Amino acid sequence: MDLNRHDFQLEELMTRIKDGDHRLIALQVPEGLKMQALEMMDTIETDTSAKVVLAADPCYGACDLVHDKMQMMGVELVAHMGHSQMNIDSGMPTQFIDVTYEGDPEIQPVLHILHAHREGAKKRLENGGDAPLSEEEAQERFLDAVGRTAALTDVKLGLVGSIQHLHLLPAFCERLEAAGFDVTIPLGGARLTFPGQVLGCNYSGDYNDIGHYLFLGSGDFHPIGLVLHTGKPLAMLDPYTGEATEMSLQRIERILRQRFGLIMACQDAERYGILIGEKPGQMRRTLALRMKRMLERHGKKGYLLALEHVGPELIDFYPVDAFVNTACPRIAIDDAVKYAKPLITPFELEVTLGEKDWGEGYRFDEIP
Ligand code: SF4
Repeated sequence: MDLNRHDFQLEELMTRIKDGDHRLIALQVPEGLKMQALEMMDTIETDTSAKVVLAADPCYGACDLVHDKMQMMGVELVAHMGHSQMNIDSGMPTQFIDVTYEGDPEIQPVLHILHAHREGAKKRLENGGDAPLSEEEAQERFLDAVGRTAALTDVKLGLVGSIQHLHLLPAFCERLEAAGFDVTIPLGGARLTFPGQVLGCNYSGDYNDIGHYLFLGSGDFHPIGLVLHTGKPLAMLDPYTGEATEMSLQRIERILRQRFGLIMACQDAERYGILIGEKPGQMRRTLALRMKRMLERHGKKGYLLALEHVGPELIDFYPVDAFVNTACPRIAIDDAVKYAKPLITPFELEVTLGEKDWGEGYRFDEIP
């Protein structure tokens, strides 16, 4: 990552510290920016009269806001960098600090992928038609990458990105429209702050008139989640390298096969550990209790385990047959191979117990 081309927008934070006459603040930065943290602490301490304590635990999202523990330390304000505000209350005054990346890649390398994806979406749309279809016909014609039968109403290009590249979206929208695409920047639900924003656990801007997607960002964390959630073709353009790729169906199929294998591995499981995330934006207590009651209805045991961080060394030793995760949805999807016992999502538990049918398509575990 080229840190020199990132803009860390600290001005509002400095003003807020001075206006509030804060003496102790906590700085929370994502993993990829931790190397710069000490430099930022120096800048804040030089420009204001506040002392800064770094919240040095791992931080992967705004779901993970510093909360009451720092209050006990006397921290008056939390400066949270690189993520946007969510629909949660950590109980601490928090200043969100935008980090933007100035790289502005050419669209040319991604155009052939977008053309191919639009043709695929058109076929799905045309095959839909108005004629009533039998269930089998509908499944054959509308089936998306994760096996659902959702109908399309249009083949618009959904333009999305990760947070440090969202400022590029309006200019990209114009360039892609000039290249002949009908572009929409989707508006998501309350967990998302900006148009076109996606999180690893939330793709709520997906609508039936979007036929395919372009993601501006790097890595495959968001692309995997987006395709698992929407089932739609996804092109990726990396602002750091200018390279264009696509999320392949083979990759998604491999993940789905792994998920199905884990469901099968749970068929004879009698005792489950149900993980509840203690982080403010990951805590799904009601869902965890629903899973426990569901297990009990099926004559099985569910033990509620609350954790701030989830890792194999923290849970593998419990005498249970499998785990159901209600904390960050990506722990089960991305990290399952690290665990000695099956680690499944709430939807996957419902399939295991026969409450939901895999045949209706895979359901991504979204936090709304
Ligand atoms: S994907 Fe996980 S870490 Fe990222 S915002 Fe969602 S809950 Fe938090």
